[in-house]
Amino acid sequence: MPLPSHLQALIDRGQRQREQAYRGRFAPSPTGPLHRGNLRTALLSWLHARLRGGAWLLRIDDLDTPRNRPGAEVSILADLAWLGLNWDGPVLRQSERRGLYASALSGLRRAGRLYPCRCSRRLLADVSAPHGALAVYPGFCRDQASGWGVERGRLPSWRLRLEAGPLGWAEAYGPPGVLDGPAAIGDVVVRRADGYLAYHLATAVDELSLGISDVVRGDDLWTATGAQVAVMAALGATPPRYGHVPLWRDGAGRRLSKREGAEGLEGYRQRGWDAAAVVGDLAASAGLVAPGSRISAAELLQELGPEHLDRALTGPQT
Ligand code: GLU
Repeated sequence: MPLPSHLQALIDRGQRQREQAYRGRFAPSPTGPLHRGNLRTALLSWLHARLRGGAWLLRIDDLDTPRNRPGAEVSILADLAWLGLNWDGPVLRQSERRGLYASALSGLRRAGRLYPCRCSRRLLADVSAPHGALAVYPGFCRDQASGWGVERGRLPSWRLRLEAGPLGWAEAYGPPGVLDGPAAIGDVVVRRADGYLAYHLATAVDELSLGISDVVRGDDLWTATGAQVAVMAALGATPPRYGHVPLWRDGAGRRLSKREGAEGLEGYRQRGWDAAAVVGDLAASAGLVAPGSRISAAELLQELGPEHLDRALTGPQT
């Protein structure tokens, strides 16, 4: 499928970059300060990259502007720096890359891969499975000859028509991901009805054009991976490797409570903890060091090898 040439050139360059070297990234949304779980995921993602001598980029996922909070980006950068999790190159912001996503949309639309969808959220909630199971779009608008303009005061969302067949990706800490496109993922929204560029589109374009070889992130994003891999396939590219790391759980295997989970560095600092104590706590929670250890991020790099991280993350979690 012919994509706009500057986008194709970036995707081709990204492909070469990730074949040549490890390139990881951390991609927080600036919706507030990083909480304990995010801090731990950041440490694991950084370690995964640095233990392999790889680059680690920092991307701020700030496309969903109503959810952005003033000051959140500044606090994210300060927290990562305080913990010693250094990133490579300039901070990348999705809000500054909109032109690239728009090029991807126009390429996909010209190739006939998109269709306008006018299903309301309420309609889709009514037909989806109970108990909040992730709904696969049933394809109501797939074969409707609807226009792209305003109808009854509303613009359509744009969906990517998925081709039949499985989509797969490599997983560092679990079995490979394999999902059937139309049955398990469903046609992905790439532009929302309110005109916002959809997160899956932006993320897929970014992983490819930034040459990301390895995405290490929380396992709450496992299902989102199917949609992102589907967009990558539509752009004619293969996905990076993924390492979905377990979310932080308490001793009884429960996800941290809202209060515990929401606590970020500020909470640690109020208790008088310094960076070595916090890094020790984050690393101990993933089984990398003994509980109560004090250790800097740089020291962790000296003491661990990639195999320690892999063993800790593939084994049973606390
Ligand atoms: N920005 C999203 C989040 O913070 C996605 C992160 C990712 O893909 O790593 O949940």
